[in-house]
Amino acid sequence: MALIVHKYGGTSMGSTERIKSVAKRVAKWARAGHQMVVVPSAMSGETNRLLGLAKELSLAKPGDTHSRELDALAATGEQASSALLAIALQAEGMPSVSYAGWQVAIKTNSAYTKARIESIDDKKVRADLNAGKVVIITGFQGVDDAGHITTLGRGGSDTSAVAIAAALKAHECLIYTDVDGVYTTDPRVVPEARRLQTVSFEEMLEMASMGSKVLQIRSVEFAGKYKVPLRVLSSFTDWDIDINEEAKSGTLISFEEDEKMEQAVVSGIAFNRDEAKISVLGVPDTPGIAYQILGTIADANIEVDVIIQNISKEGKTDFSFTVPRADYAKAMDLLKAKVLPALNATEVTGDAKICKVSIVGIGMRSHVGIASKMFRVLAEDGINIQMISTSEIKTSVVIDEKYMELAVRALHKAFDLDQPTA
Ligand code: ADP
Ligand code: ASP
Ligand code: MG
Repeated sequence: MALIVHKYGGTSMGSTERIKSVAKRVAKWARAGHQMVVVPSAMSGETNRLLGLAKELSLAKPGDTHSRELDALAATGEQASSALLAIALQAEGMPSVSYAGWQVAIKTNSAYTKARIESIDDKKVRADLNAGKVVIITGFQGVDDAGHITTLGRGGSDTSAVAIAAALKAHECLIYTDVDGVYTTDPRVVPEARRLQTVSFEEMLEMASMGSKVLQIRSVEFAGKYKVPLRVLSSFTDWDIDINEEAKSGTLISFEEDEKMEQAVVSGIAFNRDEAKISVLGVPDTPGIAYQILGTIADANIEVDVIIQNISKEGKTDFSFTVPRADYAKAMDLLKAKVLPALNATEVTGDAKICKVSIVGIGMRSHVGIASKMFRVLAEDGINIQMISTSEIKTSVVIDEKYMELAVRALHKAFDLDQPTA
């Protein structure tokens, strides 16, 4: 008997039919003798619907005045789906109870719309498990010290599930979704993408942070920190397939770098359209400039990603960086109001129609010429590179958004990701 955490995404919970199928699958695992904790997302489209209603009432952006209420609002999506799943399980004859994050409690900081989990109290959950119940805990949300409901950022149910698995020292955390594992790239963009049987933790971390939304980045960070065994698999297989077969399906996030993984130089391609580029032109090239520009952005709780500073000409330089697209307008306003006059800079310009494409692979550590091959492939398709950033196991480029799919497909082919591995 093991303690297992299942997480079901929005599509997997998308209708009462789907919820029934999830209930049957969970009941199968419980009847096999496992203690089950289930973390559902809101039914597909629900989070967008709720946030859309708020937008009809106010055009203020998240991070502005309504953040607390937006979190209280969005959190209801998971509260509804969790209660529905508990009802479906009970209708299956399986005792179960659902809790919202605040009831557990899952404690977070107070950064509304992007809160971080700080602690999870396991008392109630353990008591219910020991009483033979399936415990359902809402994904995506928690509660801060003052008792306000918080949410963990889009895709945050993955993080809830892994954090709960870590707190309960679960045997495994299974992330059920609408694809049957982690692919070499998003199979919806490149139909030739292949499923990876295993992917190293480090590669998954880079892929998630570079935009592969199959797992939220923080869920991978938690899995790494607490060594939570993690697997991504499909909720669209028949619910009554053999449980041992199901337990081996999908993609395992592996903490061991085996030889086979070393062979693939590039394991995957990630992309994201969620960033915007900002340039501050004509700033004095003196100590403290980067701090003045980026410090202002950081103080507004806006994350900065790729950064470039040009060589100076006549004591002046240009400074460019990317921010989440959702924070673009706010960042531009701040820079224009505060940094532009303070630094006597020439201009603040921006472009929200960019995307970032990244190649990821631990084999890049031991192979040279991978980045230059990436640049050649993009050049052959006439794609201009605006910014470049690298780490030991990835190279990312910022390019015009309209070339995103072309770039991803060309790179996928050039690095032989459509070919079966030996
Ligand atoms: P859920 O609602 O289950 O959390 P998401 O939509 O958040 O599902 O994530 C699953 C989606 O991630 C897939 O449908 C797929 O389009 C996308 N995706 C992006 N990159 C990858 C990848 N490398 N492998 C698999 N899926 C990916
Ligand atoms: N429902 C939330 C979202 O749509 C959280 C999640 O699905 O993981 O972002
Ligand atoms: Mg998701």
